[in-house]
Amino acid sequence: MTKGRLFSASEEEIRNGYTTDVYFDRTKRILEARGNGETEVWAEVTGSSLPRDWKWAVYCGLEEVLRLAEGYPIDMYSVPEGTVFRARSQNSVRIPLMNIHGVYSRFGVIETPLLGMLCQPSGVATCAARTKMAAGGKSVTAFGNRRMHPAISGVLDRSAFIGGCDAVSSRMGGDITETEPLGTTPHALMLVMGSNEEAFRSFDEIIEPEVPRIMLIDTFSDERTGAMDACRSVRNLMGVRLDTPGSRRGNFKEIIDEVRWELDMNGYEKVGIMVSGGLDEISVAALSGTCVTGFGVGTSISNAPTLDLSMDIVEKKGEPVSKRGKFGGRKYAYRCPDCLYMDASLSPGDSITCSCGCEMDMIEEKVLEGGKRTSKPRGAKEIRESVIEQLQLISEL
Ligand SMILES: [Zn+2]
Repeated sequence: MTKGRLFSASEEEIRNGYTTDVYFDRTKRILEARGNGETEVWAEVTGSSLPRDWKWAVYCGLEEVLRLAEGYPIDMYSVPEGTVFRARSQNSVRIPLMNIHGVYSRFGVIETPLLGMLCQPSGVATCAARTKMAAGGKSVTAFGNRRMHPAISGVLDRSAFIGGCDAVSSRMGGDITETEPLGTTPHALMLVMGSNEEAFRSFDEIIEPEVPRIMLIDTFSDERTGAMDACRSVRNLMGVRLDTPGSRRGNFKEIIDEVRWELDMNGYEKVGIMVSGGLDEISVAALSGTCVTGFGVGTSISNAPTLDLSMDIVEKKGEPVSKRGKFGGRKYAYRCPDCLYMDASLSPGDSITCSCGCEMDMIEEKVLEGGKRTSKPRGAKEIRESVIEQLQLISEL
């Protein structure tokens, strides 16, 4: 029996332009028919404003863009993946996150997928970063794959991890980020097996010892009863997880405190408490000062607003051009190493002083030359670490 095809695009279809907006193909045909098929341009990727009045965002998705753009006859320059950036300078100039030099009709086909590979991942990474900041040093695990199409699970997990999440939940995300995916027991295990003890004991006996033991304790009864079931049934119990339904939550902090008390009183001081269920940066912040040791955050990260980045031609045959509302000329991104304010200049060797008094750094790197990679690929862990470092400098959300 032939199965119907899924509606998600294959890698091949993305690469050959099947998902690209149809106007590009028409533009290319017109340019070629009218002798403009070889017009060399500079195009830049910028954002006009950030969603939800965010003051900054995390630039994510460059590595996938490079895997897409490799082989095209272009030179590409970009700020490093993981850059915490602002959309505009204090003089309203849009900060160029990426610059592409080449013949428009030869690379325009990748504009649509390239923007998608930056806009959505950057939104997810930014939400993850804000949630990680709200958690005040406690761990955050990305649990949001089930809210989005499975074709992008790897992208979502990588973006959430780069933004600052400590762990991801899918095996694909684990492979891409070179981390061990994290999972607890699902409610289904206890429901099918009929009791907490039976499910917890079986998990402990069957699952490899290196997998952290985190038991979900809200299935049948009170969380503190469930917590003691877990302590009795599992050796090396790492934590208990409360996914308490909204209808039973009442004062969630008090339920968590009560579970902590019960654990401590019975000698399980080392057992952590993970909470999940409809959390976002606001509810995580509200619980960050409690005895919670980790958060599982799903929808609010995977359903992050996508960034409104666009690609625009800013130079044609060496002359500045631009559509109204944009600033012409090939520009270089600068950023203050101290407060992360940004600026753009027409010169790569400019000396720009930030309003805080620091000298700004030109932060653009050459990433492709004639379609060949010129920068060493950076792993997700390294990028994530740089994001965490930058987040220490952020004082406003
Ligand atoms: Zn500054």
